[in-house]
Amino acid sequence: MGDNVSIYEQGLEKNAANYAALSPVSFLKRAATVYPDKVAVIHGDRRITYREFRDRVSRFASALTKRGIGKGDTVSLFAPNVPAMLEAHYAVPLIGAVLNSINTRLDAPTVAFILDHGESKLVISDRDLNPVMKEARAQMVSPPPVIDIDDVLADGGELIGEAEYETFLLEGDVDYPWSLPDDEWQAICLNYTSGTTGNPKGVVYHHRGAYLNALGNSVEFGLSADAVYLWTLPMFHCNGWCYTWAVTAVAGTHVCLRKVDPALVFPMIRDHKVTHMCGAPIVLTMLIHAPDDQKCTFPQTVKMVTGGAAPPSAVISNMQKMGFRIIHMYGMTECYGPSTVCAWQDDWDGLDEERQAVMAARQGVALVTLEEQRVVNSETMENVPADGKTIGELVLRGNTVMRGYLKNGNATAETFAGGWLHTGDLAVMHPDSYVEIKDRSKDIIISGGENISSLEVEEVLYKHPDIMEAAVVASPHEKWGETPSAYVTLKPGSDGKVSADDVIAYCRENMAKFKAPTKVTFGPLPKTSTGKIQKFVLREREG
Ligand code: AMP
Repeated sequence: MGDNVSIYEQGLEKNAANYAALSPVSFLKRAATVYPDKVAVIHGDRRITYREFRDRVSRFASALTKRGIGKGDTVSLFAPNVPAMLEAHYAVPLIGAVLNSINTRLDAPTVAFILDHGESKLVISDRDLNPVMKEARAQMVSPPPVIDIDDVLADGGELIGEAEYETFLLEGDVDYPWSLPDDEWQAICLNYTSGTTGNPKGVVYHHRGAYLNALGNSVEFGLSADAVYLWTLPMFHCNGWCYTWAVTAVAGTHVCLRKVDPALVFPMIRDHKVTHMCGAPIVLTMLIHAPDDQKCTFPQTVKMVTGGAAPPSAVISNMQKMGFRIIHMYGMTECYGPSTVCAWQDDWDGLDEERQAVMAARQGVALVTLEEQRVVNSETMENVPADGKTIGELVLRGNTVMRGYLKNGNATAETFAGGWLHTGDLAVMHPDSYVEIKDRSKDIIISGGENISSLEVEEVLYKHPDIMEAAVVASPHEKWGETPSAYVTLKPGSDGKVSADDVIAYCRENMAKFKAPTKVTFGPLPKTSTGKIQKFVLREREG
């Protein structure tokens, strides 16, 4: 009591027996010990067991050190979902270096910016992407050396590096000792935001956060040793939402996929008996609208996490009809990908299918590994009432929030104002403590002083029988200030069947009239490199 030191503060110190820094690299060590002969990775005709996976990672780590790369150095990967990309998630952090997975859809100037800003020491780049990498390097004063991935399933491209990845692995020692980082706060990854305006920001993760988010996701997604995980989500996006580590944590099987093509995805689900996969709503839409001759049936129910953008409830229910069970998660680069989940409640089983999809379209509650989420008035930081109506900003805190933005103290301080990660997403809190995102702060439409959630209008548009995709943005209006303007892509075969007036009339029947779009434009929608619809491009068109 009082000034006395507590009995629990004496002789019970941290030591090597009772404390180890958390690192997701340890998952591979265990999986290879427990299941050495189990197939860890499938890529085309190739099968890599957990023993081989570990051995390849040992060689990779050793080869990196032989090239002078070590703690705190950045190693960049520019590759689709191939074994080398997965192996980098273990080999790079094993030596204390920092993995920088670059979005494969970026252009050369942005890639050059990232390599330069992240002070990359080595790039491992797939031959298909090398034309962009070559151009990016040409724009740099001192470009990093390149190792080529000469993947058998690549379409073309070129080799530009000083060695090929498989040869590079042979430079390394298979007996490289695995000593994991002793500080869990050490940087593990550098992931650049999509940067819709200005230069992208470099988000820094630590080992502890990656470890926790991987485990939080595997709990929530029900991953187990039987899991066969199909890589329909790019590994470059928040490290494949941490599933690069989560699947290994349970010693499941990773099925690589270079490109999401329904003609490949459906037979792979059937032939490899896939149990789990992830993808942005755009991937779901692509699967739903694939031509019938590309679709095939499969006996198992495939669990699929969607997130990265709001999935309209119609998309969720159409996927469920095709044999998928959709789990909706929300997150952002700054919080290691998925951080909240629309956790299913038993009593929702009794609801009709449409109502179930509406419940599941909410972004939900914090994952078990995220400390807390709130919806606040961002000026006062007070909670908004949990009435499902009052809009505020979603803020998060916990161990799965980034360390900060690399070399950008101002942006870091601004994002962490008041001790919370400000997501910039506008949401409501429902009475059952589930969060529902209504918009990005800049996407909300203010018409005659009333807030209109663009997502709510899109939700109705997605239910129109001829509409495949929709995005709604504000259009300047003399009388109302702003009104919603809808951009829609029709389903294959629906072209010319509906007019703008028909769509407007449909909306007026299905929502409060002031929320209905006043303009409808048909055509393909501009997308970001992670499959999100680029609303800022549409807003620019509105003037
Ligand atoms: P990124 O950092 O590229 O992953 O983008 C993060 C942003 O994507 C978030 O701030 C949201 O605006 C959006 N987002 C991610 N998941 C969802 C979701 N489930 N529902 C709605 N928006 C989402």
